[in-house]
Amino acid sequence: MPIRFYNKSAAIITKHGKEKIIGPILWDAFQIHLDLARYDTDLLGTFSGEIARPTDQLGTARLKIQQAAAISNANLLLASEGAFHPHPDTPFLTVNTELIILFDRATEQEIIAKHTTLETNAATISTNDEATLLDFAKRIKFPTHRIILMRDDKNDSAKQILKDMATEAELINAFRSLQKDSKDVVVIETDLRAMHNPTRQDQIKLTANKLVQLMRSHCPSCDSPGYQIQNWLPGLPCCWCNTPTKNTLYEQYRCTYCGFEEQKRVSKPCADPGTCDQCNP
Ligand SMILES: [Zn+2]
Ligand SMILES: [Zn+2]
Repeated sequence: MPIRFYNKSAAIITKHGKEKIIGPILWDAFQIHLDLARYDTDLLGTFSGEIARPTDQLGTARLKIQQAAAISNANLLLASEGAFHPHPDTPFLTVNTELIILFDRATEQEIIAKHTTLETNAATISTNDEATLLDFAKRIKFPTHRIILMRDDKNDSAKQILKDMATEAELINAFRSLQKDSKDVVVIETDLRAMHNPTRQDQIKLTANKLVQLMRSHCPSCDSPGYQIQNWLPGLPCCWCNTPTKNTLYEQYRCTYCGFEEQKRVSKPCADPGTCDQCNP
């Protein structure tokens, strides 16, 4: 019964322009009008490390929902939260995980859309060399994607951070202003705030599309939306020797409203022997 979302009012806490990314997708799908619930989200931690995050990614997103609830009367409350971390198997790759939570006040149900991707230009270097700065700028597609500069000084408690530079001249001036002399090293980072990073905007759009799919899904038991895969169970047998592998055999669905659970076997009949510990130890 996704009809329950049609024409509802919705609010999101953001000062990074996320309502402009997620709003049109919710409008097209359900004629939901997404408003801005204004609040200083930098109090909830920032990517450039000025204020520590209160908790993990999901916890931070839930805190934003609570804060939106305190300042908005909308039927639906949304929060979007991104995280960037090294790939567990290949640490030189950076993984971007995006979450969007939708909280329905009428039912107190939470629907969580999660998207994990390697499509990110997140990067950090330290240098005292302007040419290296400009190489970095080119690589991360400055100025459509912005850059954050910091003094590389562990003793500097009031860490000086410069952002929002829009031109190469502004970038170079900011870089020089952080150097007491030309040997001083400056930390250079990709600005990952949504409004300054079109690559991240694309990932938030994909996450919003996943949210729409979840809002359209329904539990076979209670008919609530938000019926989603919560777990992947390994054991798909090898195509050569039939030994269970680490590949997913069942997708475990769970209703976040009534708790109904269901395991669905994946459509793939068997696993590539290249992923089998017996055939390819
Ligand atoms: Zn095998
Ligand atoms: Zn249910």
